[in-house]
Amino acid sequence: MSNLIELKVPDIGGHSNVDVIEVFVKVGDTVAKDDSLITLETDKATMEVPAEHAGVVKEVRTAVGGKISEGDVIVVIEAAGAAAAANPAPAVAPAAAPVAEAKAAPVAAPAAATHSGTADIECDVLVLGAGPGGYSAAFRAADLGLKVVLVERYATLGGVCLNVGCIPSKALLHNAAVIDEVKHLAANGIKFAAPEIDIDMLRGYKEKVIGKLTGGLAGMAKARKVQVVRGVGSFLDPYHLQVETTEGTGQDKTGAKQTIKFKNAIIAAGSRVVNLPFIPQDPRIVDSTGALELKAVPNKMLVIGGGIIGLEMGTVYSTLGARLDVVEMMDGLMQGPDRDLVKVWEKYNAHRFDNIMTGTKTVAVEAKEDGIYVTFEGAKAPAEPQRYDLVLVAAGRAPNGKLIGAENAGIAVTDRGFIEVDKQQRTNVPHIYAIGDIVGQPMLAHKAVHEAHVAAENCAGQKAYFDARVIPGVAYTDPEVAWVGVTEESAKRDGIKIEKAVFPWAASGRAIANGRDEGFTKLIFDAETHQVIGGAIVGTHAGDMLGEICLAIEMGCDATDIGKTIHAHPTLGESIGMAAEVAHGSCTDLPPQRKK
Ligand code: FAD
Repeated sequence: MSNLIELKVPDIGGHSNVDVIEVFVKVGDTVAKDDSLITLETDKATMEVPAEHAGVVKEVRTAVGGKISEGDVIVVIEAAGAAAAANPAPAVAPAAAPVAEAKAAPVAAPAAATHSGTADIECDVLVLGAGPGGYSAAFRAADLGLKVVLVERYATLGGVCLNVGCIPSKALLHNAAVIDEVKHLAANGIKFAAPEIDIDMLRGYKEKVIGKLTGGLAGMAKARKVQVVRGVGSFLDPYHLQVETTEGTGQDKTGAKQTIKFKNAIIAAGSRVVNLPFIPQDPRIVDSTGALELKAVPNKMLVIGGGIIGLEMGTVYSTLGARLDVVEMMDGLMQGPDRDLVKVWEKYNAHRFDNIMTGTKTVAVEAKEDGIYVTFEGAKAPAEPQRYDLVLVAAGRAPNGKLIGAENAGIAVTDRGFIEVDKQQRTNVPHIYAIGDIVGQPMLAHKAVHEAHVAAENCAGQKAYFDARVIPGVAYTDPEVAWVGVTEESAKRDGIKIEKAVFPWAASGRAIANGRDEGFTKLIFDAETHQVIGGAIVGTHAGDMLGEICLAIEMGCDATDIGKTIHAHPTLGESIGMAAEVAHGSCTDLPPQRKK
């Protein structure tokens, strides 16, 4: 009887063709259950895929640099022990019946527990986690007339985004951008003295921004009569959540507990930073949260992970005076957008970096008195360990699905901690919904908010669906890199026939007037329908302009729709209209186009 088992890619949040950046096993290796097999990387996160069974590796069906999708076979193993299944990769049917719209969960749903005690609070909708997903769900549900309880372990609402993510990083990036812009004015005859940076005041500014926004949320919760309960929540069964009350600025438990009984629940418990196991504890080694604390500006800084979060924080520290190295296992920085956009960013930012180590891996980190010594392996690895004053580990984020007692409610959670949902955001337990980072990629605040509204509306008895055609992505670097929908690279990979139109900012009056004409705007059209299906912008304020392309895609616009829409002159946004004119053949701001 054959003991061979295929170990496959589990749920990766609906992504397909994800990059394989590490393969930990080779033929002949013995793997234990939960040993990491490979690391995958999407545009914002890195995740390791663990083995579901123990055994000896007989075949490895993927390699570093390859692409992989949910359900693809990673390795074939000969199972260890008599318990090994004769059939490959058994799929376990969920115990709790999913709603009609739900797709079958490929992960096992545990049998739910039953709570026999009383409840301190009762509500229509319990929302677990007050990040952008959670507070938006709570507020929308309350606006629809439901009695809502919002559970959050930290003192302030707003989650990662407002407290240690989107907002503080942009508060710092804004200051960095002003410093950089002022430097450029020297070329126009306007000279300022070198900036004097009071890092305590800068940190204070960032805290003030956070305070303004999180305080605003607290006020809006009150105005909507959303009851906020502070503490760590964990499901007791499918209708009860226990909250261990917390106090102070962190998660210190008071010892008090409260039980909340709910009719519907929305899980919005988000994600956390991925820690690399071989990295020692040292105040000079930080994650994104630590980097945002801005304790000091190092002379020499290493960013591990060339994704958006690492590059945004690197920009801030570099402008404040640090010299940067970046190490990235993939062969390019900033995965996601087309390479032509990233090249513009790279050229403009080359001055910040001493060493860009793509195709290179960090293999050892040692904390010594005079600095952090890091050893690399791969294409651009220096021969000797390098010394740094600060190391930022920006290696992705992991979902919190395994930390909330989901099993007691009968909710299926994937090995990596994601909770699967259908298009109504329902989990396999029909009255419990999940939204935001915890349900999959892309881990972005705007996705969480839209999912939140869907979940809340369904709790109120409406029939709402998450049916967005596209979810935009933006790197708030300088210049910004913004993209949405189909890219040239994804079209090639997925066999989609496209037409593209590019408007170079070297021909944009406003970009030239601003002294920032390095960018361009690109539109991607379906070659058959001629509808716009993707777009990207690299340049200052690219992220602010991307919304027009998102709307055009959602509305099924073609080049004429966009080109005939009058854009104000002179604006950077005009470049979108002009890119559409390029597609249409009617652009008069560029040299004559070749006839099609
Ligand atoms: P979260 O924001 O993670 O919120 C989850 C909340 O649940 C947290 O407050 C947590 O304390 C609480 N919680 C978890 N478990 C429990 C429990 N058991 N009991 C009680 N409370 C619990 N996204 C963008 O779109 N744009 C950006 O520019 C951007 N920049 C980023 C920069 C950085 C440095 C980082 C780290 C992230 C950034 N993101 C950005 C990602 C964005 O922050 C997340 O996608 C977003 O916060 C996800 O929202 P969420 O509601 O799913 O979860």
